[in-house]
Amino acid sequence: MNRRKFLGAVGAAGLTVAGAGKVLAADKQVTGASIKGVKGLPDSYAVLFDCNRCIGCRQCEDACNYEQNLPEPDVDFWDTGVFERRRRTDWKTYTIVNQYDDKPPGAGQLYRKTQCMHCMEPACASSCFVRAFAKRHDGAVTYDAKMCVGCRYCMMACPFNIPAYEYHIASDPLVTKCTFCEHRLEKDEEPACVEICPTRAMEFGTRQEMLREARRRIVEKPDSYVEHIYGEHEMGGTNWLYLSPVPFEQVGMRMDLGTKAAGEFTSGALGGVPLITALWPVFLVGAYAIAKRKEKYAKEDRDKYVSQLIAQAGPEAGRRLAERLSKTEKLDKAAIEEEVRKALDEAAAKTEREGH
Ligand code: SF4
Ligand code: SF4
Ligand code: SF4
Repeated sequence: MNRRKFLGAVGAAGLTVAGAGKVLAADKQVTGASIKGVKGLPDSYAVLFDCNRCIGCRQCEDACNYEQNLPEPDVDFWDTGVFERRRRTDWKTYTIVNQYDDKPPGAGQLYRKTQCMHCMEPACASSCFVRAFAKRHDGAVTYDAKMCVGCRYCMMACPFNIPAYEYHIASDPLVTKCTFCEHRLEKDEEPACVEICPTRAMEFGTRQEMLREARRRIVEKPDSYVEHIYGEHEMGGTNWLYLSPVPFEQVGMRMDLGTKAAGEFTSGALGGVPLITALWPVFLVGAYAIAKRKEKYAKEDRDKYVSQLIAQAGPEAGRRLAERLSKTEKLDKAAIEEEVRKALDEAAAKTEREGH
């Protein structure tokens, strides 16, 4: 299943889980269950990154490493040798700066910083059936390690390829990503990476202010910018916004994502089909088990197993599972795993009984 197809799947799942559970009460949080309600968030914070201003000094990486108490980097922050290859975020690197092709002759290199985009309607949150991710009203997409069951749907769902996983930790590995320095936002402070940047390649303010600032720059210097603010509409909008002097593909940004948020992918096609939406939790649980049993099943077997689960699990199984999922707020991780195991065994037994 490719990332795009998975987004469709998680959109449907988000609808189902939304119906099954209740919104967490914390006043600054909006969970995957109520993502539709956050659209806009005009007063949320945003960062505007301007590729014209970044000099590739990597001080933002250093500041992030320090602020987030991350391990020593593989390559020192002063070492420009890292630009020889394109890097991505990983468990000990929440943000990276990559180098891209030359600007117009004599103008030097282009650099772009990557981190979580803090999507307005995040696919990671839609895909997470235990609601480990939450979209806060200040714009941050947060991750609650206590809720996470390690299924890694969020990694498959993220269109920006951001969440990483602590594969090297045998016991209880976690998903990792940029936090938007949520502890600093709570004090109305800008993120550490923004604060340290010597060229002000990043500006921090409300999303409305940052969009206004971005438009101002484009209008004032039309020869220096493509006429597009990346993140204003992509995937339903993001709280990190980008300006570039060259088409965004040339600085490694996807232009094929469209403007629909993850949760909207299936609302037209599948949202009106109750049976299908009721079965999505079963599908997710099947996929979860497959992730857990990946050593046992070859890929074809896994695909077949999922198809069987979807085909065989009736609406009744979907209803029971939805009820269980609605209780997950009260359950600890072990209990969640137990519930998932029970549901899976039921579905597998049903499949076997019916001779498939
Ligand atoms: S600190 Fe600023 S100029 Fe330096 S690499 Fe980061 S974004 Fe670019
Ligand atoms: S960029 Fe990925 S991890 Fe970050 S909020 Fe969006 S979907 Fe979630
Ligand atoms: S916002 Fe904070 S966590 Fe995210 S990249 Fe910047 S310093 Fe790192």
